[in-house]
Amino acid sequence: MSLPDSTHLPVVLDRLRRPLRDLRISVTDRCNFRCTYCMPAGVFGENYRFLPRKDVLRFEEIERLVQLIVKQGARKLRITGGEPLVRAELPTLLRALARIPNVEDLALTTNGYLLSEQAKDLKAAGLQRLTISLDSLDSDTFAKLNGRGYALQRVLQGIQSAENAGYRQIKINAVIQRGVNEPDVLALAEYFRGTGHILRFIEFMDVGTMNDWKPRDVVGGDEILHTLSEHWPLEPIDPNYRGEVATRYQYADGAGEIGLIRSVTAPFCGDCTRARLSADGRLVTCLFAQSGLDLKTPLRDGISDAKLEAMLRGFWSERHDRYSEERASLHEERLKSGRIEMFEIGG
Ligand code: SAM
Ligand code: SF4
Ligand code: SF4
Repeated sequence: MSLPDSTHLPVVLDRLRRPLRDLRISVTDRCNFRCTYCMPAGVFGENYRFLPRKDVLRFEEIERLVQLIVKQGARKLRITGGEPLVRAELPTLLRALARIPNVEDLALTTNGYLLSEQAKDLKAAGLQRLTISLDSLDSDTFAKLNGRGYALQRVLQGIQSAENAGYRQIKINAVIQRGVNEPDVLALAEYFRGTGHILRFIEFMDVGTMNDWKPRDVVGGDEILHTLSEHWPLEPIDPNYRGEVATRYQYADGAGEIGLIRSVTAPFCGDCTRARLSADGRLVTCLFAQSGLDLKTPLRDGISDAKLEAMLRGFWSERHDRYSEERASLHEERLKSGRIEMFEIGG
């Protein structure tokens, strides 16, 4: 990827000297799935109160905030949710974000269920890369994991539509849980080998407070690597850039690339350059944060760009979170108390 020169822009560093490089933008807290590890159906039932519409940032508000966050150094944008494809008129937002100077990458993470209908329009609006979450190729396991009994076939069709639309890159993300979908390590690898898509295995994390996470549920990256290597020899490959969260490998027989995101067993907080904008306009620095900086209130009160920028710089420069590196030494209460949920900030 050729990157425009951005050396003239100021760089804001946090207290661990990490720059702000990536921004995840959650466009909704709602989702059509009820994944057991993210929005368990028992908790997110009929009576669950999602954000009222008035509290969700409008596209113009997102655009203004993103412009200012890009000015602080962010270059890569990822749209997420909840499920981003349930937000109406998403191409309108993408078109606006794609026009912001110095944005070098525009990607989106989706569960893929509504992708068949939207893949083409999203691409035409400026979306460059897609990540599709897919944890199982077994119809029953998939139906159980999505909490709604939804059919696997629709996601596979969504992936096909994305292929047809001609995206620059398609990644498939799978979270493997002990005793739930371990056989899918090999099944997914087999299915996506040779397709050109990059399959990435994400360690099951203790994000939020709802998924009853236990260390023993985590299938570690090393174990996954071992399982894969027994079938197809793998060779390590260099990261694409400093701070890449996935460790990359390629099949020795040339059938493509896989990645391991070892957030639990090999944390990468030292290179964490991400900020997250929640659907209701909070800026959050760590996946495991207990709160965020409210930007919506000042925005709607008519704050100037200069003051907003100062807020952003101040917030990032005070940042010192490195939760995953500290996980082992934190007490149980801190581990569970009032954390932001994954569906609020989208990973
Ligand atoms: N709904 C979209 C999706 O599922 O792709 C975007 C939002 S979802 C919160 C983003 C990613 O977070 C998904 O790939 C999902 O598998 C992952 N995720 C959610 N909870 C997780 C957890 N506890 N540990 C690891 N990954 C998790
Ligand atoms: Fe929805 Fe994504 Fe969370 Fe699953 S992981 S419940 S698809 S937001
Ligand atoms: Fe970044 Fe927090 Fe994850 Fe560490 S735990 S990599 S600081 S989001």
